[in-house]
Amino acid sequence: MTYYECTQCGKKFPLDKTIYLCPVCGKDWKPGKPLVGVLEAVLDYEHIVRNFKFETPEWNLFSVVDSKFYPPIQIGNTPFFEATKLSQQYGCKVLIKFDGCNPSGSLKDRASYLMVAEANRLGEKEIVCASTGNAASALATICASTDVKAIIFVPKSAPQAKLVQMKLSGADVREVDGTYDDAFKASIEYTEKYGTLNRNTAYHPLTIEGKKTVAFEIYEQNGFNVPDYIVVPVGDGVIISAVYKGFKDLKSAGLIKTLPKLVSVQTETSNAINSYIETGVYHDAEDPKTIADSISVKTPSNVFMAARAIEETNGLTVTVKESEILPAQKSLFQMSGVFAEPAAAVAYCALRPLQKIVKPSESVVLLVTGHGLKDIESARKNV
Ligand SMILES: *Cc1c(COP(=O)(O)O)cnc(C)c1O
Ligand SMILES: [Zn+2]
Repeated sequence: MTYYECTQCGKKFPLDKTIYLCPVCGKDWKPGKPLVGVLEAVLDYEHIVRNFKFETPEWNLFSVVDSKFYPPIQIGNTPFFEATKLSQQYGCKVLIKFDGCNPSGSLKDRASYLMVAEANRLGEKEIVCASTGNAASALATICASTDVKAIIFVPKSAPQAKLVQMKLSGADVREVDGTYDDAFKASIEYTEKYGTLNRNTAYHPLTIEGKKTVAFEIYEQNGFNVPDYIVVPVGDGVIISAVYKGFKDLKSAGLIKTLPKLVSVQTETSNAINSYIETGVYHDAEDPKTIADSISVKTPSNVFMAARAIEETNGLTVTVKESEILPAQKSLFQMSGVFAEPAAAVAYCALRPLQKIVKPSESVVLLVTGHGLKDIESARKNV
């Protein structure tokens, strides 16, 4: 009753074997182009309706991989609270979901956790990934709790703390003298050569399934209410697609009636998704260099699904100037106690444009995706 469905042609595929892109739509895809034929898991929503209880919510009902394969380390269940000083300043209810409090310090743990569970299910002993830093340190961290080995392609220029994390954890780290997009290409070549399970974001459909658990936590921690807005820092567009998928699953299972409006925040140099949503024409971000390293992407892998997430929720785009990022990190910290890495701090920059449209009775969730201690060099510029 549960299967993968191509988000472009609707073709269905069984879950038992490893599959990345739709073999029809993704046939001509090459690294260096946005992914086409990304697969999405379709669940047995009637089974969920019959078995879900609000008193004892069993979120594993929404999981594609049986919980007996889960790694022993615990992820998620991160803090969620109202930032009352920000609520006062912006005249609406401002809530923070602090996913920097995951074991490796970012939301990426959610995707790696499910991918390592999938490796356990398949009996795979290695997982490969490309990363700007956080996906790799997440994979390295989760793998360290199991017998699965992480093979990581990462740009040499990644922040020191992230490189230290992945090296110290025992992962096989291959530093790429280039950008994230170069690392992505190297990891795809590795998978094609050695057949190793690939965790690249959106390329494997379970990365979206893993990240969607943040939506369930927001819903539960918000007293089983759907917030009006959720602000998401966007790079490849997988987190925002996953938040959308999580709420869509809740709606398909009849638990909720409306979806939160999703706000995509990118930086001015790394804005391929926002610019696609605004103009309807896709082009790469020419030179995506930004201090918000985790959302620096030339060719975002999940641009089309991310655009759908924003359109179908009546969401909006916010593009942040480079000069706003470090002040946002400082203000967010001083107004809420939350220390975010630069890529996560950009969520704060959406509050000012939102102030014009959000009603005083409405709620805005800032999804803080990574911890400030991940990148002390950048934060030091603020001190
Ligand atoms: C990966 C990441 C993002 C962006 O997620 P995408 O799925 O690439 O859009 C945002 N913030 C942090 C801290 C991240 O590590
Ligand atoms: Zn297809």
